[in-house]
Amino acid sequence: MRVLLVGSGGREHALATAIARSPLLDTLFAAPGNPGMAACARCVPIAADDIAGLVEFARKEKIDLVVPGPEVSLVAGLTDACQKAGIACAGPSQAAAALEGSKAFTKEVADTAGIPTARWQRFDASSSKEAAKAYVREQGAPIVIKADGLAAGKGVVVAQSVDEALEAIDRLGLPLVIEECLVGREVSLFAFCADDKASLIGAARDHKRVGDGDTGPNTGGMGAICPPPDFDRAAQEAALDLTVRPMLAEMVRRGTPFRGVIFAGLMLTEEGPKLIEYNVRFGDPEAQALLIRLESDLLPALKALAEGTLSEDSIRFSDKPSISLVLAAKGYPDAPVKGGVISGLDRTEQLPGVSVFHAGTKQDGDRLLANGGRVLTICATGPTAAKARSRAYEAAATIQWDDKMLRSDIGL
Ligand code: AMP
Repeated sequence: MRVLLVGSGGREHALATAIARSPLLDTLFAAPGNPGMAACARCVPIAADDIAGLVEFARKEKIDLVVPGPEVSLVAGLTDACQKAGIACAGPSQAAAALEGSKAFTKEVADTAGIPTARWQRFDASSSKEAAKAYVREQGAPIVIKADGLAAGKGVVVAQSVDEALEAIDRLGLPLVIEECLVGREVSLFAFCADDKASLIGAARDHKRVGDGDTGPNTGGMGAICPPPDFDRAAQEAALDLTVRPMLAEMVRRGTPFRGVIFAGLMLTEEGPKLIEYNVRFGDPEAQALLIRLESDLLPALKALAEGTLSEDSIRFSDKPSISLVLAAKGYPDAPVKGGVISGLDRTEQLPGVSVFHAGTKQDGDRLLANGGRVLTICATGPTAAKARSRAYEAAATIQWDDKMLRSDIGL
């Protein structure tokens, strides 16, 4: 098979590594890819949101399967454009990607499908901010205010007081979704889906804040553990039945079936798991921790997903605990320092149970430079979560880079 993988982060490097192991693979291209992916893929300089450029390349290169990594490609309609050109694409249509693009759409689907989720109300552009404020005063705090659109997690305010909620309404503007505040521990559940079929990938817990002890600003994610210790395989399967399968049935009923990776953000409340949100692709750095546990061939599963022939045994993951640690550049997330020289990777990659994935790196002759906020992800598996953790931290310590910054408490 000739495969075009779209994206350039650690998530896509992990996908590339898994795809490259497939005996079915002929050639793997990555658009735009990164220096790590260049070891197993031919990188082509096409941006992940350049839909016309990607389809044109796929047509010219007789690509059998396009694999989208990031949400930007999906929300911009990559799958639909591929389908029109007769090319299989392992991701949801633009209509189904609305599960990530619009919070109100997700809430409507969840309510219709009987999926437990926070009580909510939408205030669209025709409502007034005053109506939203009146609703907040009536409901009281804590309460959650969300901008309704793709905001990369930045448009959500969990307000602890009514004043904070009112201020958030003024700042975010309309349209808004206002939600009941759920209390519990958060987990992320992942599955391959095609139409009414879902096959469990696993679950992870990510760490969004930049600093130890969940302090400092939010980031794209500083690390993940897999599985969360309070969410075993039986609980994951039960949550899949409760929060994903009814959504798939509802999407089929609406004539916009979902095919792709679903990432359900759940709150484990006293009343059981409740849906916070869906994402329509792998998370980063959850993907890296999940994919290093892959035991079967990824490529036929991705193809089955694209063609709607997925079965529950299309793919198999081990139950081994795993962890991903993000090495970010000093100054991340506001002003990451770029240009630092990174060395020692060759040795790190040889350590048992350890994988290194690139994100914001740049090759400069034979030097590897930091070129972004999140620069590398170090992943490890082990017989126990503690062993996976110590392997990952020992591996991270072997990487020499003056601007290296990482949390010290992932998986503690
Ligand atoms: P979202 O973009 O919807 O995932 O929201 C970002 C984060 O805000 C989530 O990961 C939660 O930590 C928090 N959050 C969102 N909705 C709620 C809710 N209804 N109750 C409590 N926390 C929430």
